[in-house]
Amino acid sequence: MTKRKNVEGEREKELLHSLFMQAPVAIAIFRGSHYIIDLANPLICEIWERTQAQVLNKPLFEALPEAGGQGLEEILNTVLTTGKTHIGEELPVTLYRQGKKETVYFTFVYKRIYDQNEETSSVIVFATDVSEQMVARQKTEQLATLIEQQVQIFDTVLTAIQDFVYTFDISGRFIYSNKPLLDLLGITLDQIIGKNFHDLPYPPELATALQAQIAEVIKTQKPLTAETPYTNPAGHHGYYEYIFVPVFGKDKEIVAVAGSTRDITQRKILEQQKDVFMGIVSHELKTPVTSLKVFGQVLQRRLRREGNVEAVKHLEKMDAQINKLTVLINDLLDIARLDAEQLQFHENFFSFDELVDEIVEEIQRTTDTHNLVKEGHATKPVYGDRERIGQVIINLLTNAIKYSPHSDKIRVTTSTSSNKVTFCVQDFGIGIEEEKQSQVFERFFRVSGDNQKIYPGIGLGLYIAKEIIMKQGGHIWLESEPGKGSTFCFRLQIEKSDIQQQLNAGVAER
Ligand code: ADP
Repeated sequence: MTKRKNVEGEREKELLHSLFMQAPVAIAIFRGSHYIIDLANPLICEIWERTQAQVLNKPLFEALPEAGGQGLEEILNTVLTTGKTHIGEELPVTLYRQGKKETVYFTFVYKRIYDQNEETSSVIVFATDVSEQMVARQKTEQLATLIEQQVQIFDTVLTAIQDFVYTFDISGRFIYSNKPLLDLLGITLDQIIGKNFHDLPYPPELATALQAQIAEVIKTQKPLTAETPYTNPAGHHGYYEYIFVPVFGKDKEIVAVAGSTRDITQRKILEQQKDVFMGIVSHELKTPVTSLKVFGQVLQRRLRREGNVEAVKHLEKMDAQINKLTVLINDLLDIARLDAEQLQFHENFFSFDELVDEIVEEIQRTTDTHNLVKEGHATKPVYGDRERIGQVIINLLTNAIKYSPHSDKIRVTTSTSSNKVTFCVQDFGIGIEEEKQSQVFERFFRVSGDNQKIYPGIGLGLYIAKEIIMKQGGHIWLESEPGKGSTFCFRLQIEKSDIQQQLNAGVAER
């Protein structure tokens, strides 16, 4: 019986031994107070850099003298005497693997065990390689530190700048605001979160407009910029410029709206001052230039009578230069008036065909390189400012001549359809590249900027033309192909009310 028991015990021991030897963790057993190494599996031998033969059945600190100086003896004594398990977490161990030195991290567990008869106590140590988890954790920690730093940097920057920076959730409620806006509103970050503009000290109309714009950004998923006058809670009246931008999540879905607002009051004041200045300067320039023109013409007449051909020629050139100067001054004046919303329109019904005839004749007289060919006509009078519309026609015609130096024909067409008159000027000149076409109506935009000598100008004519046509309810556009030419057109509405129709009839009869 005892023999059988012994046999079973031996088998169990063998099984356990082979289990320990193959275990994916490093295991060793130190017996008694001399810590005789009873078992050392291959993994622990690798850590120790010893073979099993070098360590088995030897006292630990004899087999591994270097382990003595690391406080290990103290740990083992405590575990052995008190039975308290000791865990040494993530301890670095230098290993030589395939001839290469590397640092691996192990978690060591020291536990007291008894032999079968509970006579001798031993200490078993398990060492698990936790390097991978540690590296992963270190990465996460590094990332967290980095994020924390970034947050701090953004927070410092967003507090230091004077612009307001904020974000909304997709129901249009604040989820963040930087300090400048919070200070202006006199509330804390906690107080603004979850609120919309209506819950904050904003004028109701402005709050409605802003809330609608945020809803629009969420719907269209496109940024939006705008300007608004604003009297802030401190009573300071000014202008703000703001932008709302959609913020997208991982799956490209909109997750928030970010915004920033800038106080542009100073800029507005300067712009207004500049507009007033431009207005005054151009106005002041106009008077002497007009006098110059009149005197020049008087002189021209006199010298012509006297037969001084040479002097007349010079005076004619001078007159052409004065005309150019006048156009420039008028453009600047118009810009100043447009900016100040003071460009006035004297609207009435007028014969569009008569206007076109007059201008075409006048421009034809100034050019001997181009032939202006008229086609079609307006079947109805047009309602609008005759002089301003004439100004647009002149601009389109002079541009057509200027930008087609190597051709000799300009086509001028007028057509009427139900309640609209369409007027087009077609040239066969240099044309405009497609990507620049939408910009030609912008202020100061010049496609031909590099060719200032060949095509002088300041890029205001078409901007003014667009403003004039738009302010009269019309539409202006172009079609163009580089090297083939351009066609600039505008379309004006003919008013349709009964009174206007009667007026139409009256004017048409005349
Ligand atoms: P400016 O002629 O004084 O430069 P405009 O506002 O009249 O200013 O025109 C803006 C720009 O559009 C011009 O600089 C020129 O590059 C382009 N442009 C205008 N008309 C034509 C045209 N008929 N053909 C080619 N380019 C044109």
